[in-house]
Amino acid sequence: MKRFFKIHSLEIPEYLQDSCREEQNVYNFRQIRSLAMFLILISFVYIGQIELFPLVDMDDSFIRTYIVLFSSIIGICLIYLLPFAFIVKIKSESVKKYFLLSFLSLIAAGMILLTYLDLHFSSDLSAFIIVLMYSCSILWFFPRDYALLSGGYLLLMIISLLVLNEGESCDVSIVVQVFVFYGLSWILYLSLYQMRSENFLNRIHREEQYRMLETESATDPLTGLYNRRHMKEELSKELARSERTESPFCIAALDVDHFKNVNDRYGHVTGDEVLCEMAVILRNSIRLSDKVFRFNGEKFVILLPETTSSAACILGERIRTTIESFSFSGVRKPITISIGISQSQKGLSMDLLMTKADKRLLLAKTSGRNRVICD
Ligand code: GH3
Ligand code: MG
Repeated sequence: MKRFFKIHSLEIPEYLQDSCREEQNVYNFRQIRSLAMFLILISFVYIGQIELFPLVDMDDSFIRTYIVLFSSIIGICLIYLLPFAFIVKIKSESVKKYFLLSFLSLIAAGMILLTYLDLHFSSDLSAFIIVLMYSCSILWFFPRDYALLSGGYLLLMIISLLVLNEGESCDVSIVVQVFVFYGLSWILYLSLYQMRSENFLNRIHREEQYRMLETESATDPLTGLYNRRHMKEELSKELARSERTESPFCIAALDVDHFKNVNDRYGHVTGDEVLCEMAVILRNSIRLSDKVFRFNGEKFVILLPETTSSAACILGERIRTTIESFSFSGVRKPITISIGISQSQKGLSMDLLMTKADKRLLLAKTSGRNRVICD
């Protein structure tokens, strides 16, 4: 049992345990609604049965106790169901957890009392079994939590059996039944736990794969920067945002000067390293809200949301001087870049904005390179 228990508890890796617990709390919180509704229904059925077909040797005081007990269970369930819609919206997981735990404790106590009464008339353990089976099948607990909850419930049952028999030896068949059903609840619990954790892990795995694919399709494999495809998506989003908020943004088109010479002189591998180092410099020079893309070859584009052309020019100058003074690995001479900057305007399309930045980049090239041209 210990090994079995261990295997199951190890299924969810350490780093996922917190999110699994969170999901488990949310799931359980929703499930208690169905548990409460089930208990209301079954309590009404039992009240009807006791009223219409009471056991022959059941005296009035017991009938009343039964009815009071079933009515209390209905009352508790209703009290918990009424604020449910409100509490489900509360963000705090601990509020939900204590709401659930207090409900389960009250129900467990009610069911133990019910079993206690049942045992007076017959060897009936149905109330005990219903809670045990229902909670392990509809609720989702980590093994340790289930061991605590079901263990506590079992202990309550044993204590009530001892009280019922006033310390004298209990009916062995009842004790055996209690333990058999407790064991069965564990078998059911473990198979369901395995299924739930597998589902959880499969979902996380699928989400991770999806995120990886998404990242791969948006990034350039050499530099790790966003690629041209992603640039188009981001630019059109930024255009729409800027139209809506009427705040301008800028794009900067950057191109390495005489990069062909770098390749010819030091080889393609060094050229690739230069591009990677340049990507790091660019990424480190911008704000978190800015984005840098590798457009193609040795040309990059930076998107600067909520930035005016003058602010973009200052940033462009800073990047230009940083690169000029940086000593790239394997390259003896300084490497320079030219930059063309354009600012968004109402009604200006994405293509026109890019063309404007390209024209300025060309102007920077033709007027001597290693310079920034703005609006
Ligand atoms: P300019 O100052 O006018 O921009 O001159 P340039 O030499 O930088 O421009 P040109 O378009 O003549 O050459 C670009 C070079 O960039 C040619 C190409 O081999 C190189 N290149 C493009 N992509 C890569 C890459 O991924 N890795 C390497 N190592 N080189 C690349
Ligand atoms: Mg170039």
